[in-house]
This record gives sequence, C-alpha cells and structure tokens, in this order.
Amino acid sequence: MSEISVCRLPLGPYQTNCYLLSCPSTKEGIIVDPSAEPDEILKAAQGLKVNYVFITHTHFDHLQALAEVKESLGIPIVAHPLAAQKISMDRALQDGESLSFGEIQGTVLYTPGHTPDSICLLSGKTLIAGDTLFPGGPGKTGSPEAFQQILRSLEGKIFGLPDETVVYPGHGGETTVGQARAEYELFRSKPRTTPVYGDVLWLSA
Ligand SMILES: [Zn+2]
Ligand SMILES: [Zn+2]
Repeated sequence: MSEISVCRLPLGPYQTNCYLLSCPSTKEGIIVDPSAEPDEILKAAQGLKVNYVFITHTHFDHLQALAEVKESLGIPIVAHPLAAQKISMDRALQDGESLSFGEIQGTVLYTPGHTPDSICLLSGKTLIAGDTLFPGGPGKTGSPEAFQQILRSLEGKIFGLPDETVVYPGHGGETTVGQARAEYELFRSKPRTTPVYGDVLWLSA
C-alpha cells in the first residue's frame, strides 16, 4: 500500500490551493480544485495519469481553471450532487463514498456549512478540507445557522479523526486535526451571548 503524495499549488489572485494527489507506485492521481493558472496545473500533472477532477465546493475561485483542465485532459469532474446547480459535472459523490486512484483509497465526507455542496476527501492521515477548515478556524459562513451547520460537520466528520491527521485547506498551509480540535475546544469553552458567524477564528472569537 502506497502513501498518498500531496502537491499543493497556490494559484491565482486568491492563492487558492489546487492539489495534485497521486499514488507514487502507479503514478495515477487526481486534481483537486483547479483554482486558476491552468498551465501551472497541467505542468505539475505531467507524468501522472490523472483520473478525474475533484471539486471541494463551487466557489468560483476554486474553479477558474476547470474548463481548460477538463478540455486538455478530457477527464470526469466529480463533486457533491448539489454542485450540479453551479457546474457541469460527470459524477455525483455521496457522503461516505469511496474513491481510489492507483493504490490510494479515499472516502468522501459531506461537510456542509461554508457552502451546501462542501465535501472533504479523507485518505489515511490526509484530509483535503476545501474551505471547511483552515489553520485557526472554520471556513467562512453566511449566517448563524450556517455556522452551526459547519460546527456540526466538523464535530461529526472531522474532529473525531486521529490527532495526527494532516488538514490541507483550500487556502494557506496545513494544520492537524489535533491542533484544530484543541483550538475549537477553547472556543467552545467561552461563554457567548450573541451568535457568531462569518470569518471566525477559534482563539479570538
Ligand atoms: Zn469557498
Ligand atoms: Zn476558497
């Protein structure tokens, strides 16, 4: 069983992370969020057999190179069923569904809150989190209800993972589940009279 290889490409005006995930033994892989700068993505993918494009959610800064990448590689686009309202896609991914490329196995986690179509991909100790979880806080939410929803997603799907699970977010560098859960527990422990949402940081909210 190979260990997944993760290559992070921060691209475009928002430095939105595109990831190339691959199996070192078979050189098969997938592209996560073709955010911008298609030539950079295609260059990084040279030497890999790319099986599909995985979309974490349909915010435009995660999709700006989608058309060019799809056209150049001719590969299917996979995303949550609700993403079909925003993009043309080839396969809908349900919560808990398995995905594989080469010897790498992954599981789709449905984590609504930042958007209704947000999903993460878990493979062993690697979590591709999209905009659901960043170092220091959850993804941006548009209402107190959406904030409660992202907390349910985090508690139900992510904070139960082993501490050493590495979180690869849609923007910025990595954190770990252990670090994120510890910060979240401090956030939870503070008394609060008004609901928070928007850009929330665990330690200053
Ligand atoms: Zn987003
Ligand atoms: Zn984003």
